[in-house]
Amino acid sequence: MTIFTKIAKGEIPSWKVAESDEFYAFLDINPLAPGHTLVIPKNVEDDYIFHLDEATYAGLWAFARKVALAIKAAVPCKRVGVAVLGMEVPHTHIHLVPLQTEGDLNFRKERPVLTPDQQAGIAASILAEYEKL
Ligand code: AMP
Repeated sequence: MTIFTKIAKGEIPSWKVAESDEFYAFLDINPLAPGHTLVIPKNVEDDYIFHLDEATYAGLWAFARKVALAIKAAVPCKRVGVAVLGMEVPHTHIHLVPLQTEGDLNFRKERPVLTPDQQAGIAASILAEYEKL
């Protein structure tokens, strides 16, 4: 079982920002910017997004779209950027990153340090916006 499956099942804690029957979104533990979110399918562990069946693939992006709208409403940013890497965790995930500049999507940059309380507050704000959609 991948670490992200354990997160989706609640066996490992995460800062949840949105959830549906099939998909789950939570804050990245080492964010590029405040509000950096990961979006995953709960029940598919394939590590390559383009291996997903068409329905799961389309559903994942539709869910990510709603999460991005919630992030934009909750976190001050110019727009929400998207990246798919999967170099570290072998469970398909989409990165959603609030952007002020294009440099905010540089995965080699120095990352801001956020306290657990700050992460919890950001997650609660995004979740509140998600629930309005
Ligand atoms: P990648 O697989 O290259 O797309 O990167 C995996 C991402 O998952 C990185 O940005 C990590 O900071 C993030 N990550 C790893 N473990 C956790 C965790 N337990 N909770 C939240 N994010 C995580």
